[in-house]
Amino acid sequence: LQSQHLDAPKIPKVYWEDIGGLEKLKKELLKTIEFPIKYPHLFKNSSLKRSGILLYGPPGCGKTLVAKAVSTELNVSFLSVKGPELLNMYIGQSEENVRKVFESARASSPCIVFLDELDALAPRRGAAGDSGGASDRVVSQLLAEVDGVASGDEADSSSFVFIMGATNRPDLLEHSLLRPGRLDKLIYVGPYCGLYEKTSVLKALCRNYKMTEEVRLEDIAASLPERCTGADLLAVIDTARAAAVRALVHNLQAGLVKESEFSQDSVILGVPELRQ
Ligand code: ATP
Repeated sequence: LQSQHLDAPKIPKVYWEDIGGLEKLKKELLKTIEFPIKYPHLFKNSSLKRSGILLYGPPGCGKTLVAKAVSTELNVSFLSVKGPELLNMYIGQSEENVRKVFESARASSPCIVFLDELDALAPRRGAAGDSGGASDRVVSQLLAEVDGVASGDEADSSSFVFIMGATNRPDLLEHSLLRPGRLDKLIYVGPYCGLYEKTSVLKALCRNYKMTEEVRLEDIAASLPERCTGADLLAVIDTARAAAVRALVHNLQAGLVKESEFSQDSVILGVPELRQ
């Protein structure tokens, strides 16, 4: 892993208001991560202490977004890596990459390490063979780092490192990674269902947009399939924005609205009202 490929940990700028729905998940995550950061001495040598959690579920449902928001809200730096990025064909290099990730996290602690596509990095041992996937040695290195995180200095929150793993395929993961004290809390992040939940996500996605009066997010949510991923809902909003921008350009060209009424950064949704 070339050091330029490993982004330096930093505090993201994703806030709870950017996330629609997922109320129970937000509370649960804060409770799980905030308490050990704030009260490290209470977790010292306790069976409550864990290295991290695992978020699982289909793609595009908000795992990455939620992990970033936790870091932002707790003011903790965030180091994100995708499992396959750490894998290298040269002997010993993948293990070294895993080691470097945690070294970087410790140097920027308190820090959340987000390990996306964790199944690529930690497949069940003995399953990968020599087919180019992560070898058993890589999994062993990861387990050693995970255990190192759990036995960090509990009395000092500045040395806090917490792992948030993410996968679409928890069934492929090395089981021992999910043992008590390691990533022993599994949280499902799934598609958004029902009018209230889908409307909440649409509202969050439009939070910074100006909207014309005829845009009713609830009606849009009602017209969508029962189950939508966050990425599906984002695509709906992006399509609506593109249509609104096209309509605006059309109205500007027709002289129906004045350019001065729309600053460059006024993002819109819905067709701007025509002026006579
Ligand atoms: P993958 O498994 O592919 O990594 P993921 O579960 O990590 O996917 P995200 O990348 O977090 O999914 O979500 C994709 C996009 O969907 C986000 O960038 C965001 O725009 C939108 N999104 C998902 N969930 C929500 C939500 N609850 N509120 C607002 N936007 C959301």
